[in-house]
Amino acid sequence: MNRTTVLGGWAFALILSATCLGGGRPPLSCGQFSPFTFAIISDPQIGMVALERDRTNFAKVATAINTLPETTRPKFVLITGDLVDDANNRPAGAMFRQVLHEFSMPVYPIPGNHDVTTDGKTFAPALLASYRTEFGADRLVIKQNECLFIGLDSQLWRGPEELARQQFAWLKQQLHDRNNYRYVFVFEHHPLFLNDANEPDQYYNTPSMWRSKLLHLFEQGHVTGVLTGHLHRNESGLYHGIALSEF
Ligand SMILES: [Zn+2]
Repeated sequence: MNRTTVLGGWAFALILSATCLGGGRPPLSCGQFSPFTFAIISDPQIGMVALERDRTNFAKVATAINTLPETTRPKFVLITGDLVDDANNRPAGAMFRQVLHEFSMPVYPIPGNHDVTTDGKTFAPALLASYRTEFGADRLVIKQNECLFIGLDSQLWRGPEELARQQFAWLKQQLHDRNNYRYVFVFEHHPLFLNDANEPDQYYNTPSMWRSKLLHLFEQGHVTGVLTGHLHRNESGLYHGIALSEF
């Protein structure tokens, strides 16, 4: 399977209907909602195989999304991290930004481990600073048709504790007025867990210290779904009514 994965509107519709049937806590009547489509791309990781080959594949994804029928064309696109393979590779970053301009709708990337670390593992504050300069904020909020989307920098859950604490406080703030929204989605790079919420820490999941706090907060906040990347494959599950989708 191609490393770059696109999720079409059908999955959103699936999550939506499940919630309307009582899986979440819609504060407003389901009948008033205007459905819409969004797309998720994860791990374009320009430079992982070969710069030009990876740029071409990413551009093909942009074309595929742009040319979807108008009825299903996404309102916006989320990119759940690993925009490039090596955060120090400037040409890779330039290629990513070049393709970004080819999308005909807004695109909202957040960073993956490869975007803010020296070797995919070791967090470097200077790389986070250059990410913010080159690609924009590493955490963000999107509001669309009574839906709230919260993008996070999941590398901070394994980075300096102070930065993780700041991000967690910010996240709590965003969820404070959750009742103003019908559906709430969180998107970040690292999955919370792979098989079991109590599994040991490893490269592909979120460290247990923050994982348990996040799961508790998401459950309390009636988060509809958590959308993540990092795995380079599609998986989905359910945790206490929260849809977990990995790409
Ligand atoms: Zn990754």
